[in-house]
Amino acid sequence: MTSSIFYGGDYNPEQWEPAVWREDIWLMREAGVNLVTVGVFSWAHLEPTESNFDFGWLRQVLDLLGEAGIGVDLATPTAAPPPWLTTRYPDALPVDQRGARYSHGSRQHFCVCSPSYRRLASAIVQRLADEVGDHQAIRMWHAHNEYACHVPYCYCDHHAVQFRSWLQRRYGTVDALNNAWGTSFWSQRFSDFGEVTPPRMTPTLPNPGQLLDYHRFSSDAFLEEFQQEKEVLKRARPDVPLTTNFMGFHKALDYFAWAREMDLVSTDNYPDPADPDSTALSAMHYDLVRSLNKSAPWIVMEQTTSRVNWREHNLPKAPGQMRALSYQALARGATGVLFFQWRASRAGAEKFHSALLSHAGTASPIWDEVVTLGKELTAAEPWAGSRVRASTAMIFSWPNWWAIESPSSPAHDLRMLDQLAWMYLPLYHRSATVDFAHPAEPLGSYDALLIPSLYLVTEEEAANIVSRVETGGTAILSYWSGIVDQHDQVYLGPYGGPLRPLIGCDVLDVAPLAAGDTVEVEWADGTRTTAGFWLDLTAERDGEVLARIASGPWAGSPAVVLTRYGTGSAYYLGTRLDGEGMRRIYDAVPALRGAVSPAGPDGESVERVVRSSPRHDFEFLINHADSDRKVTLAGPGYDVLSGQRTDGAMTLGRRGVAIVRHERSARPAAGERDAPAGGSQG
Ligand SMILES: [Zn+2]
Repeated sequence: MTSSIFYGGDYNPEQWEPAVWREDIWLMREAGVNLVTVGVFSWAHLEPTESNFDFGWLRQVLDLLGEAGIGVDLATPTAAPPPWLTTRYPDALPVDQRGARYSHGSRQHFCVCSPSYRRLASAIVQRLADEVGDHQAIRMWHAHNEYACHVPYCYCDHHAVQFRSWLQRRYGTVDALNNAWGTSFWSQRFSDFGEVTPPRMTPTLPNPGQLLDYHRFSSDAFLEEFQQEKEVLKRARPDVPLTTNFMGFHKALDYFAWAREMDLVSTDNYPDPADPDSTALSAMHYDLVRSLNKSAPWIVMEQTTSRVNWREHNLPKAPGQMRALSYQALARGATGVLFFQWRASRAGAEKFHSALLSHAGTASPIWDEVVTLGKELTAAEPWAGSRVRASTAMIFSWPNWWAIESPSSPAHDLRMLDQLAWMYLPLYHRSATVDFAHPAEPLGSYDALLIPSLYLVTEEEAANIVSRVETGGTAILSYWSGIVDQHDQVYLGPYGGPLRPLIGCDVLDVAPLAAGDTVEVEWADGTRTTAGFWLDLTAERDGEVLARIASGPWAGSPAVVLTRYGTGSAYYLGTRLDGEGMRRIYDAVPALRGAVSPAGPDGESVERVVRSSPRHDFEFLINHADSDRKVTLAGPGYDVLSGQRTDGAMTLGRRGVAIVRHERSARPAAGERDAPAGGSQG
């Protein structure tokens, strides 16, 4: 490979005559493609009928790619079982909450607990490894595709059996299960594990403990299938790194647990150009993925060159936006940017999904952008090994996400992603780099912790967070935190449970506000901002009240309370402060000041992230706006993209990108510090 940055996409040659393959290879070389994912949905071509295999075409494709020096990310085809499989083994099809069985005709129509599916999936993966696993073009193993994307939960009898075994392993006795799920409520007490079902359709609210454990179990069930594939692939070629493509903030799978199993973490990211926050949310997606396994590299496995076709109304990316958003991933530490897919399909459900090579072929303006980016990445050597370092972490866990959105919540419109975005977006706009962290992981390298609504927190997780504050960290902790334990059972006393040392007031009750309602917040200096969505109703204790609710029936209730704890401090936010309120908090915390780049008239600010190597800081500057923007740099440097020296400022054209190299010894970039232990791989 010519570059250490991966560039390419999904390649589906089985959709085309062999005559097209040679043109594909020729154009891939022109575009600087160095890695293609092959075989993702090829089960019906590799095993046309049960136990009759055809690997001739795949071998031919691998040979062509190998001869051209294009690496292969070889995928297992298990995300789309062929029609013979579901016809012969209908119990391999998943079942919905009402008991209706899914049909063949799309993809991901399998029950991961079905013994037939598991046996046949294992067989095709083994055969793939046996037939072509030793091919020299293979650079990466790609297990399955987007686990749990369309059918995250199956409610069939196979699932019921596996769920009972999982519960028996977790709880040991049926009494322990009854206690964990609080089954004394509504006469739900079990006398035997055999009485437990998946959370199928019920007359009204289901048992929250059952729901929470079904999320945990379902994530584990998919992970077990992944591990079955991993074992086969790694046995065949232990030297080849293995991944499966994640989907960023995908609720169904606990990616912190999954990422531990990856040699390389990969993600699929499809920001919606119609959403004004999509660029910032895309950055948040990448910061999460970078943080899932802090000792593994990561890549974008899929994005689109322009438009998808599976939303209601699909806006294209603007000219230059594909390149700018690719650099967003690279700026945030990615070691590769790939796309779905290489050549736009003529037929099938995604034929109007854009591709590197569109229906118009090389005449499409997308092609020029693809070739330009490929050339730039081939020359990416200077910054390819550098890393992103963050001194701030946002605390996030999947069990909290699952529990906080339970249908028994006081506000069903409390969405975890809204909570994250509320705290993250202002930091994005001030170029403060944020990692994500699991509440139980070592936090010693982070100066500031952002904790949006950590509703479910275990005693151990809370102790870990509190201990970081005690030793000098700063926490910003929002309402509806420290409410329940790992079983979704309430910590009694004023709310906050084991996080109470960080909450300098007593949270006595909660009051979700009516949709669109706001309250005034008065600060100690008499100035006012607003807040909305939610109020924790509080009484003063030992913290310093920085602001109070100043309107409505709850006026006077402390809304922002600062607590000194050990050598650190914690800001407790009892309501969803507006942008100005959040600015006041973030301005007070050195790690969160960032390098403010005021937004232009179109609302877009220039995105700025620093990747560091031992000798250099690489200041990535990405202008997502539709007009030129002047930016102030961390200091004089050298733009590795344009090959020009720059003084302390430059102008970026619309959707323009610069990567300014600074000598580390001469001028460390603002807001960055040297090598924290928790710094992320880049
Ligand atoms: Zn099932």
